[in-house]
Amino acid sequence: MTVGTDTIVALATPSGVGGIGVVRLSGPRAVAIAESIAGRAFRPRLATHRRLRNADGAVIDDGIVILFPGPHSYTGEDVVELQGHGSPVLLQQLVDAARRLGARLARPGEFTERAYLNGRMDLAQAEAVADLIHAQTAVAARLARNSLDGALAREIEPVGAEIRELRVLIEAEIDFGETDLESAVAPEVAARASTLAAAVDVLRARLRPARVYTAGMRLALVGAPNVGKSSLMNRLADAEVAIVADRPGTTRDLLRANIAIDGIPVELVDTAGMHDSEDEIERIGIERARDAAAAADLVLEIRDLTRPEARATLPDLPGIPVLRVWNKADLMPRAVAEDGLVVSAATGAGLDALRAAIRDQAGLADAAEQRFSVRTRHLEGLEGVAACLRRIHSDQPPDLIAEDLRLAERALDELLGGVDHEALLGAIFAGFCIGK
Ligand code: GDP
Repeated sequence: MTVGTDTIVALATPSGVGGIGVVRLSGPRAVAIAESIAGRAFRPRLATHRRLRNADGAVIDDGIVILFPGPHSYTGEDVVELQGHGSPVLLQQLVDAARRLGARLARPGEFTERAYLNGRMDLAQAEAVADLIHAQTAVAARLARNSLDGALAREIEPVGAEIRELRVLIEAEIDFGETDLESAVAPEVAARASTLAAAVDVLRARLRPARVYTAGMRLALVGAPNVGKSSLMNRLADAEVAIVADRPGTTRDLLRANIAIDGIPVELVDTAGMHDSEDEIERIGIERARDAAAAADLVLEIRDLTRPEARATLPDLPGIPVLRVWNKADLMPRAVAEDGLVVSAATGAGLDALRAAIRDQAGLADAAEQRFSVRTRHLEGLEGVAACLRRIHSDQPPDLIAEDLRLAERALDELLGGVDHEALLGAIFAGFCIGK
């Protein structure tokens, strides 16, 4: 892979009008291009006020130039930031000037990709950069921030160390031609691999719930007309997003709201009341409601305490949990329900319990447990590691055991993006004694 052979440029701040805007350059010609735009000789890491000119020498703007020399920059290459006034027109001219001087427009994520390729961060950290930028809640941002510090690498480090030790044991035996004999180390290796597989499963189970902070949750509110779906959604969303009316069938289309419940980004979908309808438009709404429910992580089946008979026909939703919520508790003060929660969209009663139930459904009994952000890729990667380890049995030939260990190590390395053969070789030779 060729790294940093060309110089890239991009607007680093959001497009649109703002106080200032930052154009960022990275690559071998970053300094030369920036000098053409801003004049020669700026000192590393020092903000310098300069006229910024286009390729013909005409002044575009005046602004601040900062040079971050490689390798101790974000990308590991020479990076220059040009800070101008936050005008999309001026900033575009700066980008164009850099391009005319030989820079190429960066692809999305290319600065971070270069940081990864240049060894400035591992793959999980690069992912954390994206998760941090896209965090929808403060909790999600905190977790991504922790990931940026290399939390996943630290968490899986002992797993990698144990796999390497096991490889040393089995491969040393193979290298010294003792495969014709009964393997002396296979029983120990198999036992330790099985213990390690169990430990990886525990780790995966512990990390899994954090995924919801990045991926978010989708809740579908399903129920007969007028049971209070829209009102409840407004309550949960803490904003007027749905139309509330007395006439049945008002909620004809899907209404969506993005809210946060204890730091979990939640997309609420309020569905059309599910009942049989002759009305064409309403029937389409009902169809969409069924689709929304089928795509949800949790379905809230809303019922009306004053009209227990009013219920929607729930579509068949295999694998999707359904939580029954009895609404309008304010009209039935002594109501209790064994088959669900009792709430009032009108007064807000019972909504804390509802939020807690939603959180439980996300597997977040203890939100404080979550220390860093996790992606599905990481969970699947760990699953792959455990699967390789579980295949190992003491009665297998040593080279098969070695192969599964190698695959387990590779699956683990892929989590962070790098395959570090040197670490393995170092470990093997460090374990040798002279003369063997
Ligand atoms: P939807 O058709 O299921 O979305 O129901 P709406 O949210 O439009 O509510 C239907 C009617 O019930 C409206 O008149 C609401 O004001 C009323 N409503 C909803 N929730 C409550 C509640 O908790 N208590 C009382 N008293 N009325 C409610």
